[in-house]
Amino acid sequence: MHDIPFLDLQAAYRELKADIDKAVARVLESGWYILGPEVEAFEQEFAAYCQADHAVGVGNGLDALVLALRAVGVRPGDEVIVPSNTYIATWLAVTQCGATPVPVEPYESTFNIDPERIEAAITPRTRAILPVHLYGQPADLDPILSVARRHGLRVVEDAAQAHGARYKGRRIGAHGDVAAWSFYPGKNLGALGDGGAVTTDDAAIADRIRLLRNYGSREKYVHEVQGVNSRLDPLQAAVLRVKLTMLDDWNERRRTLAARYAEALAGADLTLPKVPDWAEPVWHLFVIRSRARDALQTRFDRAGIGTLIHYPIPPHAQQAYESLELDDKAFPLACRLAEEGLSLPIGPHLTSDAPVAVANVLERECS
Ligand SMILES: *Cc1c(COP(=O)(O)O)cnc(C)c1O
Repeated sequence: MHDIPFLDLQAAYRELKADIDKAVARVLESGWYILGPEVEAFEQEFAAYCQADHAVGVGNGLDALVLALRAVGVRPGDEVIVPSNTYIATWLAVTQCGATPVPVEPYESTFNIDPERIEAAITPRTRAILPVHLYGQPADLDPILSVARRHGLRVVEDAAQAHGARYKGRRIGAHGDVAAWSFYPGKNLGALGDGGAVTTDDAAIADRIRLLRNYGSREKYVHEVQGVNSRLDPLQAAVLRVKLTMLDDWNERRRTLAARYAEALAGADLTLPKVPDWAEPVWHLFVIRSRARDALQTRFDRAGIGTLIHYPIPPHAQQAYESLELDDKAFPLACRLAEEGLSLPIGPHLTSDAPVAVANVLERECS
């Protein structure tokens, strides 16, 4: 165990224990264990938080992406443009729809998909663009939306790391056609188990996803479409309602830590994350880059500081996507990020002197 752990989920529970325990007991005593009032209340509160007209709770973030893609009409044989550097779920959602992921490289400075490279990847089979707000920093949505409009494509946002982030002053949630969210425990808004949601301003998309998540059924035993079973659990919805009230506070703590890292590491031989002036990130992760990444990680480990790599193998190089025959040479930035990226500890329950402790480890090396 590290003195400074990468993440402390138990501390998050301890801070809210009284309210979470009460919320869980309320569900247990209600006798309502699938969908129902608790899920509906969370959906309304989360939609309002995201400045979106609708939210629909689903089983997890991957399902949120799959159902969002299905709802905008992605079908087998279609192509969907995805970032070359992302968590595998972004690509898995596309292939689960029977479509083909077409990877596009990121801006080197922000790790987010580069809108200028999107146009060259569009073919007659392209149906949608799936940007990811990676590490909690919004992708550059306006140029993405304008390419999409020019080519008649839909935009599905992978917002699994971006709860509360803002693009040009407006929260992530309904800039594109639909945004997909994960409430995996380690996310900025995390449940005590799996959970997910979609948000959208489009009533027809929200309605379609409500139908798909519940066996394609509006009325019990009447099935309009071939749906799935992917419903947000009312216990998780009750927990998420408590945590949603803390989200801005907790994101603010992450922001303070990120600023301290930037200050403490300003002179270090590292590449620090860059924030464009239109972006308000929520620092799901604080990812630095170094050519000596592996040695650095070992030194942090010995000094009692937990770090992680997001992600060590880019999706195109995973065995799961062998059949796409995508060559490393076509994705130099995704490969470099996998080789050089290192995520430093960050979270609402991290001690505020962690950035100085991290900087001290680096200084010890120089002397
Ligand atoms: C966490 C995550 C997901 C998947 O969420 P799950 O709830 O684990 O299914 C999808 N995309 C990104 C970028 C993520 O970080």
